[in-house]
Amino acid sequence: MAAVKVKSSALLIVDALESIIERFRGNHEKRQELEQQLYNRKSGIAGEQKVLDALYSIQLPRGSRVFWDISLPLPGGSFFQVDVILIMPSGILLLESKNIGGRLRFYSKPSELHKVDENGTILLAMDCPFAQLQDQKDNMDWWLANNGFRVKTGGLVVLTANPTIEAISRNSNIIRLRELRSIVRRMAEQPHVLSAELLKTLTTAIQLQQRPYLPFPYAHHVGVEPEHLEWRPLCELCLCPLDKPTSRSWFCPNCRMSHVPPYKKTLLDRFLTTSNQITTAECSRLFKCNERTALRILEPFNLTRIGNGPSSAYQMEYLQLLE
Ligand SMILES: [Zn+2]
Repeated sequence: MAAVKVKSSALLIVDALESIIERFRGNHEKRQELEQQLYNRKSGIAGEQKVLDALYSIQLPRGSRVFWDISLPLPGGSFFQVDVILIMPSGILLLESKNIGGRLRFYSKPSELHKVDENGTILLAMDCPFAQLQDQKDNMDWWLANNGFRVKTGGLVVLTANPTIEAISRNSNIIRLRELRSIVRRMAEQPHVLSAELLKTLTTAIQLQQRPYLPFPYAHHVGVEPEHLEWRPLCELCLCPLDKPTSRSWFCPNCRMSHVPPYKKTLLDRFLTTSNQITTAECSRLFKCNERTALRILEPFNLTRIGNGPSSAYQMEYLQLLE
């Protein structure tokens, strides 16, 4: 099976969040909120990865495709996001993973998911995954109909952290990860609703219309001022800004160790968090080098040159980070 796996923009967002948190100067009011966001995102991706691993370990029928973390267009220029879609000749399945352990209670009115302790005290309240799945399903069905595909989607919520379910309000499409393989195998044996040709047209349409969600530079997106971030190259062990005692060596005054030049990480952090552009003058200030060296440092990034002469800048096209 040829799985189409777009390198996820979700992973780039995790990189951006990590770099903002590493680079805060002192105690920033947003630190705790962003640390929580980073934790939630990493846990969500880990759950989706478990679902993908299960799907990739099945011999899926010829022409089947798995898509991860894609956005498709809605009317009016907006997009809807889908975590995992499995497309097989026998149908289309959306999978919403929940990577939360412990005791869970699902409610439908209002639609919420609670994590509780032994006494029933709510430890965490979040959006109910059934409502999220229903929303994804409605959008996907609309997109399919609008593109001339007369097929409806099915959906499952997959629990990937083996929680205890204490309350569930209706007969829901919820399964544990270990059940996924056998359910998909059974589904694969059902009568075909998509011909080989239609399957190909559908996967091509998704590939052509999907737009990765790229909310960069991310510091602006989460309301952090760039001046609250440390821009010098950092020691990867202790996050202390590095010194450059000679023209070729970098040194951490805290670890008392020399370092390889931290060009790639420093520039990627800068592009993902605060600006998609850099001038050679800015680059040479950042790395304490002359402009010729700065140009050489920027070269591997395949940046687009904007403007001419000494004021020209080099621009990162975020899409290329996904390829
Ligand atoms: Zn250090």
